[in-house]
Amino acid sequence: MTAADELLSPGGECAVCKEQVDERVLVAVVEVGSGPGHLVHGCLPCARARARSPFAPPWLAEDLAAIDADRMT
Ligand SMILES: [Zn+2]
Repeated sequence: MTAADELLSPGGECAVCKEQVDERVLVAVVEVGSGPGHLVHGCLPCARARARSPFAPPWLAEDLAAIDADRMT
């Protein structure tokens, strides 16, 4: 099990661009008033675009860097 395997989610619809993609990453956790937060998954291009935003969660760039590092080996 690599870092990328742990960070990547199964394919499905990107929450950002609505495309069906083979692999997704967690791009946001939406806090809700009660119960667990809602997890938002997006495709890698959307995740990278979001990581550059000042509103991106601090862990997003770290997750993407871990996936990139994993794939370079
Ligand atoms: Zn997308």
